[in-house]
Amino acid sequence: MSCKRIADKITGANTVANKKLKLGHWSQGLLQAVEDPALLVKSDEFVNVIKDKYPKAKFHYLVVCKKNIGSLNEITKSDMNLLRHMDKIATELTNETKHENNNFKIGYHAEPSMARLHLHIISDDMNSSFLKTKKHWNSFNSDFFIPSSKVIQSLEDKNKLDLPSKEKCKKYLELPLLCHKCSYVPKNIPDLKKHILSHCLK
Ligand code: AMP
Ligand code: ZN
Repeated sequence: MSCKRIADKITGANTVANKKLKLGHWSQGLLQAVEDPALLVKSDEFVNVIKDKYPKAKFHYLVVCKKNIGSLNEITKSDMNLLRHMDKIATELTNETKHENNNFKIGYHAEPSMARLHLHIISDDMNSSFLKTKKHWNSFNSDFFIPSSKVIQSLEDKNKLDLPSKEKCKKYLELPLLCHKCSYVPKNIPDLKKHILSHCLK
């Protein structure tokens, strides 16, 4: 083993976890986004609200917490007030935003790809050129998407969150495509995207 590899092994410098912590890694993008005035919508002592850079619907914002919490996995009951605050900020935003009579969903991805705990606020048109894959679709339209109210409720009831396992998350993302507003079963993503437009026009 080379000296560098031995040193990395001792310090843990080359582990996947530590690679992800490197500034500039794509998974740290939200921390850079909160510094970008073009994306920042509002902020307070506890959170930054940003526009999602690759929105999966006409309206898609993220409430990013300032406390160094990676994801729901790290949440304990002591973070209850923070979760309630994130939910309140998200709900206020949906009330402020009159968006073509859209409904909004407020929730977390069970297995997020980006670092720093963030809450999605997304309009239910799901009409966006950035929505390109089954994974994108299912991440907002299956139990992979955990409503903020459910997270708060289960933390109130128990001391820790029961999050779906890795296997379950994989299954949710691989579910067959299904319209979120009716029983239409699309053949593929282009078919689904064409179909959901009919709901937007109603
Ligand atoms: P997830 O980690 O799966 O809960 O979602 C991360 C969200 O962050 C996705 O909706 C992405 O479109 C969005 N995103 C990825 N990179 C950036 C970035 N640099 N700035 C703002 N939003 C981003
Ligand atoms: Zn439909």
